[in-house]
Amino acid sequence: MTEEKQKIIIIGGGIAGLTSAFYLQKAIQEENLPFELKLIEASHRLGGKMQTVIRDGFTIERGPDSFLARKLSISRLAKEVGMDDQLVHNSTGKSYVLVNEKLHSMPGGSIMGIPTEVGPFLTTGLFSIPGKLRAAADFILPRSESGKDQSLGEFFRRRLGDEVVENLIEPLLSGIYAGDIDQLSLMSTFPQFYEVEQKYRSLIIGMKKSTPSQPKTPVNKEKAKGAFLTFKTGLQSFAEAIEAKIDPKTILKGHRVDKITKNGNKYDVYLNNGETLVADSIIAATPHKITQSMFGDYRFFDPFKEVPSTSVATVALAFPEEAVKNDIEGTGFVVSRNSDYSITACTWTHKKWAHSTPKGKVLLRCYVGRAGEETIVDLSDDRIIKIVLDDLKKTMDITMNPDFSIISRWQNSMPQYTVGHKQRLTDILDHMNAELPGVFLAGASYGGVGLPDCIDQGEAAVQNVLNYLKKENS
Ligand code: FAD
Repeated sequence: MTEEKQKIIIIGGGIAGLTSAFYLQKAIQEENLPFELKLIEASHRLGGKMQTVIRDGFTIERGPDSFLARKLSISRLAKEVGMDDQLVHNSTGKSYVLVNEKLHSMPGGSIMGIPTEVGPFLTTGLFSIPGKLRAAADFILPRSESGKDQSLGEFFRRRLGDEVVENLIEPLLSGIYAGDIDQLSLMSTFPQFYEVEQKYRSLIIGMKKSTPSQPKTPVNKEKAKGAFLTFKTGLQSFAEAIEAKIDPKTILKGHRVDKITKNGNKYDVYLNNGETLVADSIIAATPHKITQSMFGDYRFFDPFKEVPSTSVATVALAFPEEAVKNDIEGTGFVVSRNSDYSITACTWTHKKWAHSTPKGKVLLRCYVGRAGEETIVDLSDDRIIKIVLDDLKKTMDITMNPDFSIISRWQNSMPQYTVGHKQRLTDILDHMNAELPGVFLAGASYGGVGLPDCIDQGEAAVQNVLNYLKKENS
């Protein structure tokens, strides 16, 4: 008699779900485990937010375009699926912040907007003299109350004053979440700043002491490596490479999970085509509001209903080189909220990622939409392009219309880790572990939004599933 295999269902084929499927299959094969895997994805493609358009020699990312190189889980997975030879670092270059309609280069020695060198901070035109003096209060201010969550805004405004926050820190930090720094949780977004403050009291001194100093001239005259990596063939090709390693029989695309209920020590998973699958263990790699609605019978997920997600759009514009007259040295800029602009950031992609653009062309990639400014995402393509071009023409001499443009709307795509996120999540997970054993969560809504964070969560979920099922079997 053949042994009945235990069934694991992964819901959602974004990077978190793909990672889970890849490592689970690997463990099942390597350890010859009596488990069976199914990955269910609502759309007809895997990769979730990783989407690339290859057109006329351009490689254009619709969603994420890169990831932090120091977070190693993604490079490790790239090696596993034979994509490590496609990894490429960004070109380094000047970056700017646009404040009151003017581009200012980032003051040297600022780390995520926190000044660590006095000279460039004193000479930058980004802040007034009172603003600079206020920032110096950081040297004498006491630490925050230990262990208490607070908003990024509250933390930085107290330490460095409103001006440094609004002209530098806000545009840099809020861009990652398309969020409002006065709502985002310090502990769930940048806990390292809290830790530095607790250790050194002064953020400025602490950041200087805890960050390895960069050589002013790169060693061996090599060009300094950028802090980011991406895949020359686009992030979608990474998703496709992972998919290619997963047994196609285990992948179910174009099927949405509508509901999950506990049935004894198993789970009934209801699909939108009327089919019901049975699972012994589940990884929900779906955004939090979808997770809440799939588990609608379990009220402890209800707090997810209140967690906002903001909408953004990326706008890629491809030009011939001669269309952009004043070539500004650098790789891009972020926009402070006190500027009369609709774009929130612009990358000179042809410079930052040379592989993305054919010779003789220019590729600009802008963002629109952030917490409180989301209606722009719903405008027509023509309106969005006009708004973006009008904004760009305020800082760049653009003389022609783009050869083509690609607008990618991402509705409710950026989960907002608002103050209390950690505690809210812990409460939900405690209930889930007690009432729905064998169910695990992974993905951007929970333990980090970056691609490597989602991979880490996928790997952790796999470990949890294996521990759970092995214990069940013992
Ligand atoms: P997703 O990619 O959202 O995948 C979830 C999947 O679940 C989707 O495929 C969806 O179709 C599926 N699904 C949903 N409901 C169901 C259901 N009921 N049944 C079955 N399947 C379902 N991160 C970086 O590290 N670097 C960047 O440069 C960067 N830039 C970004 C730019 C933009 C515009 C956006 C939107 C995000 C960016 N991020 C970036 C964040 C990062 O892309 C995401 O956090 C990450 O891709 C999320 O992966 P995920 O697997 O959690 O979710």
